[in-house]
Amino acid sequence: MKKRFIIILCIALLAGLLLAAPAPVAAAPRAQALPPENSSADPGRAQSFIQLVNNWTAPEPSDQSSLDLPQANPDLVIYLTFDDGPDPKWTPQILALLQKYHATAVFYEIGRNARSYPQISLAVAEAGQMIGLHGYNHIELPKLGYSDFYLEVIDTRDAIRDALSGRPELAKQLTPCLRPPYGAVSDSVYSYAYDMNYAISMWHLDTRDWTGISGEEILQQVEKGLEPYRVVLMHDGGEDRSETVRGLELVLHELTLRGYHFEPYCTVTGQEFNR
Ligand SMILES: [Zn+2]
Repeated sequence: MKKRFIIILCIALLAGLLLAAPAPVAAAPRAQALPPENSSADPGRAQSFIQLVNNWTAPEPSDQSSLDLPQANPDLVIYLTFDDGPDPKWTPQILALLQKYHATAVFYEIGRNARSYPQISLAVAEAGQMIGLHGYNHIELPKLGYSDFYLEVIDTRDAIRDALSGRPELAKQLTPCLRPPYGAVSDSVYSYAYDMNYAISMWHLDTRDWTGISGEEILQQVEKGLEPYRVVLMHDGGEDRSETVRGLELVLHELTLRGYHFEPYCTVTGQEFNR
């Protein structure tokens, strides 16, 4: 009887030891039970998570030439236009700024300049920008008869076509739009252009960058007349354009903050209607 009791006691002790043994080493730790949703059990922890989210900053983009822009309002459109190029010094600086702000504009080129700097005309088209015509010799079109008017247009068109000839896929960057030098127009200018299937591209808002004003004053000019669907006149050639470049960056930055975006006034299919 005593011996049987000792055996039972030994079995019980052995079972107890086995049950009390630590879990196998490889066992995965159990996940902590989460409090039910909307639980106020741990408000401090929720607060610190919100803080973590608020303090999170996006990593610096590796490509600084293009900004990650806020969502633009589809109705807040501005049409930027640049006359008197192409210019080997100023046009590339303007192209870089437009790229940075995802802006598309129209460059109304002087035919003579496109002949001198075909690689700059090509760079404008390669950047996805549109090209219009600004006459071959930058002369007042109302003074011309039809044949001279025709040559001003066709010679400019051909200079730009030649500049783009090695890249047939860029031909669509050349538009059927004509910006008259000095804004000088007449009934005959409209009539000749119509006969040649060209639209006359005027503007609403002259930045007056050609008067030598500062970049800040260029921004003020734009802010004074700012409304959706305005056509803005600037220059990328002709003389020192350092203040135009500065003013353009201020305009792009300020208008982008206000929800504007920048579309081309003219494309291969023609010109936007004046609103
Ligand atoms: Zn001009």
